[in-house]
Amino acid sequence: MSERERFLNHIGGAFVAPAGGAYLPVYEPATGAQYAEVAASNKRDVEGACQAAERASRGWRDASTEKRGAILDAIANKLEAQFEQFAQAESKDNGKPVSLARAVDIPRAVSNFRFFAGAIQHFASECHPTSADVLNYTLRAPLGVVGCISPWNLPLYLFTWKIAPALAAGNCVVAKPSEITPATATMFAQLCTEAGLPPGVLNVVHGTGPDVGEALCGHPSIKAVSFTGGTKTGARIASVAAPLFKKLSLELGGKNPVLVFDDADFDAAVATTLRSSFSNQGEICLCGSRVFVHDAIYDRFRDELVKRAKALRVGDPLEATTEQGALVSEQHHARVRGYLALAREEGSTILCGGEAVSPPGRCANGWFLSPAVIEGLPHSCRTSQEEIFGPVAALYRFKTEDEAVALANDTPYGLASVVWTRSLDRAHRVAANLHAGITWVNCWMVRDLRTPFGGVKQSGVGREGGWEALRFFTEPKNVCLKLS
Ligand code: NAD
Repeated sequence: MSERERFLNHIGGAFVAPAGGAYLPVYEPATGAQYAEVAASNKRDVEGACQAAERASRGWRDASTEKRGAILDAIANKLEAQFEQFAQAESKDNGKPVSLARAVDIPRAVSNFRFFAGAIQHFASECHPTSADVLNYTLRAPLGVVGCISPWNLPLYLFTWKIAPALAAGNCVVAKPSEITPATATMFAQLCTEAGLPPGVLNVVHGTGPDVGEALCGHPSIKAVSFTGGTKTGARIASVAAPLFKKLSLELGGKNPVLVFDDADFDAAVATTLRSSFSNQGEICLCGSRVFVHDAIYDRFRDELVKRAKALRVGDPLEATTEQGALVSEQHHARVRGYLALAREEGSTILCGGEAVSPPGRCANGWFLSPAVIEGLPHSCRTSQEEIFGPVAALYRFKTEDEAVALANDTPYGLASVVWTRSLDRAHRVAANLHAGITWVNCWMVRDLRTPFGGVKQSGVGREGGWEALRFFTEPKNVCLKLS
């Protein structure tokens, strides 16, 4: 990154200007002002990155797992040493409170590298002694060069969640971060080189999805694509990559249900639902946007949630007391407000929030929105069915467990779900019946990196995390040996 805050590509271990010489503006959401520009790359840059990755591929593939793990650990240590710089950059680029970047984004990016540095040391393959004279075993070879495409909501957290297992498994990576939040990926690429990652093992190409993402997905060097982003983009990527028989991991959108039964720990349920609805301004794929509450406690729960939502402090992300930062872009701000207008048309009552906020001082022109709680929506309407990805929680009343589960499952998505109950039987029953890749019972966003992570239905294909990620980034090969 130069002093002019120009985010360049990082190819073959060095910063490189985009082949076409074009740049895109990068905005600070909290002020609404442009603060940097980012390379608007094209397929020539993708070609250069793929060539650099191919050149590095042999050496990295043949490095021992111990050596790869040590380099990943060194990267984690270096990131930890620059923790505050990265937290500030993430907050500036994305609009999230710096307190959240310190508590979640940057620590998790460190953990992603530490976790896979260790995991690869323990990643074993199977051996099947078939008979006295036949032995079958499985080799798990790296794929070669892989593509990782990540979104803007948890920029470094998701960027590292993909590239750490890819690198640990012995692949070289060409990564495309979101053009909306390119800062920390750029800083990170340089940090990796300084930490001893050989040139070309990780390459970052900036630019738009159509110009860079699609060129990456269609490039013959790329053996697999790991993508996190919207469902429509996932479908587009599949249409480019699937006919070329590339391995695909797609982590897509969500419309996550929260089920609050009348035997729930009320205070814990309200406090955590406030977080699960509004953390990161609701811009987390795991946020609960449909909150189903049992009839017996509905009114009390609604009133308490509204009271607490109104009390959330919206303002300058750099202030320690801020709980809600800015939405990521002007377009996204308009989109979320559009959904609130639609919710009104569809018959809902906006109980609180949903208004543009103009904090005093430097953030007066930022893209802030007060957190909204709404009720009275039919479950079949667009606001109930489509992903909003902002600080909007819709409440629904239910009377029976079957009704709650049926409503929760009545969506094209199936990423995350939350159940609040003190009944052990119900917890297990409902968790098993919800169509989602993950169900949290009496908690939210508690993560163990060993667990499989992903969605069903239109929320995705495949799983990340733990062995799932290492399996995705390796090709199994069966060797059948007949002893003479
Ligand atoms: P997006 O789909 O617009 O963009 C994601 C990435 O894909 C960006 O880097 C973008 O440049 C790139 N891209 C866009 N068009 C492309 C194309 N045609 N070919 C290749 N790449 C392309 O998503 P977003 O707006 O950045 O992120 C928000 C979405 O991400 C939400 O739907 C959210 O639910 C989802 N998300 C899902 C998860 C998960 O784990 N399932 C996590 C975070 C975010």
